[in-house]
Amino acid sequence: MKITVLGAGRCVTGSKYLLEWKRFAALVDCGLFQGPAEHRRLNWQRLPHPAHAISSVVLTHAHIDHSGYLPRLCRHGFSGPVYCTPPTRALLGVLLPDAAHINEEEARYANKEGYSKHRPALPLFRMADARAALSLLEPVPFHEWRELNPGVRFRFHRQGHILGAAAVELETKVAGGGRKTVFFSGDVGRYGVPILREPESYPGSDVLFLESTYGDRFHGSEEPRNLLADEIRAGIARGGVILIPAFAIDRTQEILYLLRELTVEGELPEIPTFLDSPMGIEATALYTRFHSEHDPEMRQFLAEQENPIFPTNLQVTPSSAESRKLNALDGPAIIISASGMATGGRILHHLKLRLPDARNTVLFVGYQAVGTKGRRLVDGDQQVKIHGQWVPVKARIARVSGLSAHADAGELLIWLSRREREPGQVVLVHGEPEAQEALAARLRDELGWASTAPALGDSVEV
Ligand SMILES: [Zn+2]
Repeated sequence: MKITVLGAGRCVTGSKYLLEWKRFAALVDCGLFQGPAEHRRLNWQRLPHPAHAISSVVLTHAHIDHSGYLPRLCRHGFSGPVYCTPPTRALLGVLLPDAAHINEEEARYANKEGYSKHRPALPLFRMADARAALSLLEPVPFHEWRELNPGVRFRFHRQGHILGAAAVELETKVAGGGRKTVFFSGDVGRYGVPILREPESYPGSDVLFLESTYGDRFHGSEEPRNLLADEIRAGIARGGVILIPAFAIDRTQEILYLLRELTVEGELPEIPTFLDSPMGIEATALYTRFHSEHDPEMRQFLAEQENPIFPTNLQVTPSSAESRKLNALDGPAIIISASGMATGGRILHHLKLRLPDARNTVLFVGYQAVGTKGRRLVDGDQQVKIHGQWVPVKARIARVSGLSAHADAGELLIWLSRREREPGQVVLVHGEPEAQEALAARLRDELGWASTAPALGDSVEV
């Protein structure tokens, strides 16, 4: 069996591993490249294996950098089953149509403005491709073995990173008649965060594909909850609107949970709070619905008829008309909206309106990638261009760090610590080179493990 790294090789997006046996091929994850243009260009390349000859896909979780290439794969002729956990299927029902919509809109806009080198500019995939991908999803519950090809089976282990996130354990026959297990960590979640159950520990395997996003990072011991409370209190004192740009999936629910906790415990007064993101509203409903994924506290709340991520006083604005009404809103009030890095979505309208007023606060609660408006704002730019117009920045720009859906280096080692056997081969993926080098050193020093970090296109023989 040969495994080729088609994505997330010395980078953090495009997760895609091509598994080839003598007569079969399958993919573990099928993600889009995001970020720098030289990476995004790779989304236009064909895979080295014809799409129609790939028998199936196994997805670790719903994030677009792990799932967003599926519609494109369907466009190229793939028609096999796509295995994922039941909550992942539900989230993809929201995420993939949204991704298709964004692609179609960008192509339309590029054609209208004439800024694309390609004439006409084409979307990477269309709504019909997203629908085709959704029709192939086949839910597999956690821990149940499922046959992939004759002689090859897999099962999902809970990973706690976002709703439905899993690691994939694959068992395959190999030349000579033996069996080997390959374990794909997917994105490893964190310990001690609200709502979802903790990651299930790595059990051991012959080969381990290990994510390394924060292999060089420590999330810090400062409680994000307190930072959040301080900034919101100050924002309320100024009498302004507090804008929280947040990723619709996971971060939005975590913020809602923390806000409710702070209010119930009397650390924050009750002020009008709005969730202004159609995807965030749908994702919050899904986070509520999958009881099997909740941690004990969340279960307890729901058993007492209380929903900490959708409290009764939370106001939602699914339609654009309702969203526009928020323009007349006077503070103090909180508006949570997407996208988390202010790269698009409704948050841009709110920023355009609220940035010029010093009473307002923009509170970033996630990582801000280089080149995004979010990054420019946290870096202190005095004006930003939104929808072609320069907007002065007078509002307070703040950030709450320490909120992350990814394990840091210490948490990765905890996740590895309960194994029943040692991996024969460790392959680092889903990390920038510096993070991978730091993690490789820790694995070597603390566990005595050697590891490799393949580049895009490199293969591993099992
Ligand atoms: Zn992820």
